[in-house]
Amino acid sequence: MQSLETLLSHHGLSAILDHIHAIVILAEKDGALIAWNRAFEPYKAGFRPNGKLGDLFTDTVDTQSRSQFKKMERWVTHIFPDEDKQNGLLCDCMLLPLADGKILFVAEIINSAPKLLDKVDRLSKQVEVFKNESETAKKLARRKEVEMSGVMAQASEISHIDALTLLPNRRKVLRQLEDEVQRAQRYHTPLTISILDIDYFKKINDTYGHLAGDEVLKQIGQILTDYIRHPDMAGRYGGEEFLVLLPNSDAQAAADQAARLCKRIRETNIQTAEQILNITISVGITEYQKTDTWETLINRADAALYEAKSGGRDRWVIKNSQS
Ligand code: GH3
Ligand code: MG
Ligand code: MG
Repeated sequence: MQSLETLLSHHGLSAILDHIHAIVILAEKDGALIAWNRAFEPYKAGFRPNGKLGDLFTDTVDTQSRSQFKKMERWVTHIFPDEDKQNGLLCDCMLLPLADGKILFVAEIINSAPKLLDKVDRLSKQVEVFKNESETAKKLARRKEVEMSGVMAQASEISHIDALTLLPNRRKVLRQLEDEVQRAQRYHTPLTISILDIDYFKKINDTYGHLAGDEVLKQIGQILTDYIRHPDMAGRYGGEEFLVLLPNSDAQAAADQAARLCKRIRETNIQTAEQILNITISVGITEYQKTDTWETLINRADAALYEAKSGGRDRWVIKNSQS
């Protein structure tokens, strides 16, 4: 296939030159104008008689020196400056030294699209507005979140549900313990309780932040919800402590349950926002005895838990006497 250049060279180029929007000027080596196309006509009138190519520019272009170059020069500048040498038409300019020493100058006007520039300007302003709006939206969402957690905290007081773990809260689980102690007294049925405590939980807060700690508590709450089934009951007893009631069960049943829970929690990868955490729990177990109140039961389970901690953690201990 023949190139466009070869094909066009067989035809008169004047029609083409007059059709295009770019200004095309042929000049002498010293910049004196020889010929130009129709696109230059509207500007010709403002051009001084015998003006040179260099008069077109706002910058200090030296067409003489540019024409010394043997290769094509291309740059963007304003041409047809006003009296202050300020404004003008922004053009993509090309100077092409020809073989006979003359210069061909071509200028493609690029600020003739004010609509497009306006549009870009408008769009960038909209982007700014959007950025501000999304910041406001984030702040609003955050405020709603805070409001929501306040409402949840109040709801938890009323409903006995712990807002973080969604387990029964301390008040609920202790009330339930009182009922179970009365039932065990009245009907001489077994009752065992376990206190579960997360090992080194303070270190999690200190190392990864309180939110990561909360996430751990949530996920432990979920594991307990999955594991502890009716008639057993698990509640959030303190910060990182959970109380499990096992009506009609002896300490051995509670120990089996504690062993399964210790293993399950030890093997769980807890995914928080930024890292995967592995934790363990310790468990103190005690079984109801005739003279017990709910308080003596709790105290003994606590003592068992203390032994589990001092014994190395990640383990359970049964304590059935005050010794
Ligand atoms: P140990 O193995 O002896 O149980 O050590 P520990 O660090 O788990 O125990 P400690 O009693 O020293 O720390 C418990 C921590 O639990 C301290 C407290 O700030 C944190 N905590 C209590 N409630 C919450 C809660 O709702 N969220 C979070 N993130 N932390 C809590
Ligand atoms: Mg504790
Ligand atoms: Mg702890």
